[in-house]
Amino acid sequence: MRSSLRRLRTVVLPNLRYLTGTRLRRCRCCERLSLIVSLSPGDEVKRCLNCGANLRYEMLAEEIRKLDLAGRTVVELDPSSPLRPLLLRAGRYVRTYYSPSQAAGSVRPDGARREDVTDLSFGDGSVDLIVSSDVLEHVPDLQRAFAETARVLKPGGVHLFTVPPRERTRRRPAEDPEYHRDPLDPAGILAHWDIGPDAAAMFSSEKLRLQIVAGPEGVDRRVVWRAQRI
Ligand SMILES: [Zn+2]
Repeated sequence: MRSSLRRLRTVVLPNLRYLTGTRLRRCRCCERLSLIVSLSPGDEVKRCLNCGANLRYEMLAEEIRKLDLAGRTVVELDPSSPLRPLLLRAGRYVRTYYSPSQAAGSVRPDGARREDVTDLSFGDGSVDLIVSSDVLEHVPDLQRAFAETARVLKPGGVHLFTVPPRERTRRRPAEDPEYHRDPLDPAGILAHWDIGPDAAAMFSSEKLRLQIVAGPEGVDRRVVWRAQRI
């Protein structure tokens, strides 16, 4: 209740002027005809009234639908995303959250499992699909995150992800901090990286190939990345 009041005060009320951008159309995430309610000039807070998806989740959903999830093992680096009904079609779907104070692999009452993307509890070659939306830019050791992705994915398996699009890739300097909204922490979460198209060359390895597979789309020029285990 308190968080929804805070959301009303900080997100809804100051942004009512953007409501004129609200549209009725088919949502690419839940595939229903739905009001896409606008509370921002960009795409980030234009959300499907039915499933809560914004542009990045709609783009991810479209890429996920191209895959056959039957019998597959899927790991989402998010405990409660709008992709959940879609990913539940997989043979096994593990929702995860990150908290430095919780033990690796511990499970919350809502069923989400604590995972660290730089030290995953999954076995080598045990996962078919990893999905994350605006997570990797917050990981200090990004090289290690991709090494873990390469370790746990089966050959041919993929990590589909979004990050806020930037011109070029760089570790953000400490004197220029950028905080993103975090449902777990009202203070927000620090972005350690800007990630641009050159990340494909920087982070691809003999085991993992990174490429942009969708976009750019929208005012925010959103893209979907795919890191494929070779
Ligand atoms: Zn929807």
